[in-house]
Amino acid sequence: MSRRLLARLRGLLGGSAAPLAEIAELIAAELVCEVCSVYVLRPGEVLELAATHGLKPEAVGRTRLRVGEGLVGLCAATGEVLNLPDAQNHPAFAYRPETGEEPFMALLAVPVRSAGRLLGVLVVQNRAARLYAEDETEALETVAMLLAAPLARSHAEALISEDLTATLPRHFSGVPLVGGLAIGPVVIQGRRPPPERLLADDPAAERARLAGAMTRLRHGLDQLIAASGPLAKTGATRDVLEAYRLVAEDAGWLRRVEERIGAGLSAEAAVQRAAAEVRERMRRIADPYLRERAADIEDLAERLLAALDEGAPLPSLPPGAILLARRLGPANLLEWHARGITGVVVEEASAAGHAAIIARALGLPALGGVADLIDAAEAGDIAILDGEDGQLILRPPVEVRQAYQRTAASRRAREEAWAELAHRPAMSADGVHVALMINVGLAQELAALDAVGAEGIGLFRTEIPMLARGRMLDVAEQAALYARVLDAAAGRPVLFRTLDLGGDKLLPDAVAAVEENPAMGWRSLRVGLDRPALLRRQFRALLLAAGPRPLSVMFPMVATVAEFVAAKALLQAESARVRPAPERLEIGTMLEVPALLWQLDALLAQVDFISIGSNDLLQFLFAADRGAPALAGRYDILAPPVLDLLEMVVGRAAAAGTALSVCGEAAGQPLIALVLAALGFRSLSMNASSVLPVKAALAAADLAAFRAVLETVRRQAGGVASLREPLAGWAREQGLPV
Ligand code: PEP
Ligand code: MG
Repeated sequence: MSRRLLARLRGLLGGSAAPLAEIAELIAAELVCEVCSVYVLRPGEVLELAATHGLKPEAVGRTRLRVGEGLVGLCAATGEVLNLPDAQNHPAFAYRPETGEEPFMALLAVPVRSAGRLLGVLVVQNRAARLYAEDETEALETVAMLLAAPLARSHAEALISEDLTATLPRHFSGVPLVGGLAIGPVVIQGRRPPPERLLADDPAAERARLAGAMTRLRHGLDQLIAASGPLAKTGATRDVLEAYRLVAEDAGWLRRVEERIGAGLSAEAAVQRAAAEVRERMRRIADPYLRERAADIEDLAERLLAALDEGAPLPSLPPGAILLARRLGPANLLEWHARGITGVVVEEASAAGHAAIIARALGLPALGGVADLIDAAEAGDIAILDGEDGQLILRPPVEVRQAYQRTAASRRAREEAWAELAHRPAMSADGVHVALMINVGLAQELAALDAVGAEGIGLFRTEIPMLARGRMLDVAEQAALYARVLDAAAGRPVLFRTLDLGGDKLLPDAVAAVEENPAMGWRSLRVGLDRPALLRRQFRALLLAAGPRPLSVMFPMVATVAEFVAAKALLQAESARVRPAPERLEIGTMLEVPALLWQLDALLAQVDFISIGSNDLLQFLFAADRGAPALAGRYDILAPPVLDLLEMVVGRAAAAGTALSVCGEAAGQPLIALVLAALGFRSLSMNASSVLPVKAALAAADLAAFRAVLETVRRQAGGVASLREPLAGWAREQGLPV
């Protein structure tokens, strides 16, 4: 393919709208064809003649073929190149008189695709019967690749602005993680968008980039192989080795990439083009071994593109993007959020998982446990994410989209009506005050303290800022952060929880031992007690931040009173060294490990306060992984044994005069908050977005009446798994917003 053609295409493709007619004219001239036409896929699986050089201009916008109809439709349906010397005698030929194509015998059609999705078909025709040469086919395929990006863009824009649906809507249900609505195009984690820069001026620079990427790729593979040790002889690792050998030995493939760079493609486009070509060739080969190699090449191309990307700024996301991911770690989610996503759907995630906690902290509508979604979606598909009802609708019809837009408006109105509650403390209709605090992990959440009128921070997760930055913070950095939190709290209580790393909260460089059950493994305070220097640094930072102000610190995952006593002694020793000492130092514990329930007297004698972490407490009580979507909703905090134990803890803490709260995610659900208040909890800590809904539910509830109902329901419970239904039923009858 000539550099001149590429150079001229660059000029044409540079603008925002692809001038298809000019492109058709240019290709016809360069490839010496009498006809060049662009067919674009329209809603309803129809290919429309969008531009032509050589056919009758009046056919543009009129000639339409279904996918599978005619030669253009055949090319679209099979995704394969059609190269026909005598097109009109092909059995699939469909005559369209308005085009005036009778004189043209030879036809070459190539599909235009982006990320596996069909966008259109590019066709050239000639009068004389002839088979097109390999370099002509290749040139047309390269143009099709270049055309894919602008066509994909206009396709997505058409979907947004005209509500056109290219494929059928699909409906998915999942576990609601964070309420709220998002409507926008999907982006898919791990699926690489087409390169933004397809053409390049300076082949030497592109070759240098390619060489650098190859070095990084080889280095990465070496590391992978070294790390896998004896496993390298088996299974997945062997595939990597095979791919490695291919890179090292298959100079032919690399030469083809370099040739394309020489012709004016960017390194990324050249790699993609060469990979597509190998894929195309391999597809026609029956031999299973050779077909396997196509997968290797694809893997290799993926790695090479990633290596080319290294250090480059991430491509911008379309406005309103909704992220789809199979799995998502907390640090990863923070990165995506910084890039502007408006919602997130994870195939494998549940309400109490840490990705969900981050989503909640960010106020990002989120859904988990949605099976088979990624395979059904294409980047750019429009989706409606309803985090409240746990629904995702892919490619929604226009009426559905409009209905959701109306819903969004009414939810906004409801939230506005709650806004005045922000200025009042939470109070039940019969005058019981419940202190509502917020769970915080990121500095940007601090503003919520005033926005929702919270009475303090009932849980500051100190590991979250580190996860956000992807590294441990030193003492000075930690002290500055904690001081900022205390400043924002302006005298309201803040319960700092020491580092709760481990489980699924891992820093990128953490060398985690492979554990079968990391949630029950070497994590949280266990790490802190084994690495006291780490814990002491954090204590010092907290003490420095507080200065003379009161300071409250609690420990996560305490399993024995002895662990608590050991951690407390470390903190007190650190406090004795720091001047000025805090006016008051309160040391408490999370109650997350069931074993503590049978050590309550000894524990209450040691602690200043207890905060129940219902996320972990429930996971260990029911032996049910908080991160497993299949178990989401299976065990309920409103189960009779849980209510019994919560009531027991309330009674014992009250008798000891020890402050008690709940800071698990459950406390933020209005119905559960009412139950907790009825059981005697007077302090709850929750995500900021839950405070106003809980205030609204409390304000409408006569707590004494609710307590009586709760007692009756519990007495009559029998062996039911949850009391949610009868309690919610009563609440709804009373008109409570739960
Ligand atoms: C809990 O376990 O309930 C809790 C609040 O801690 P985290 O969710 O951070 O584990
Ligand atoms: Mg916990």
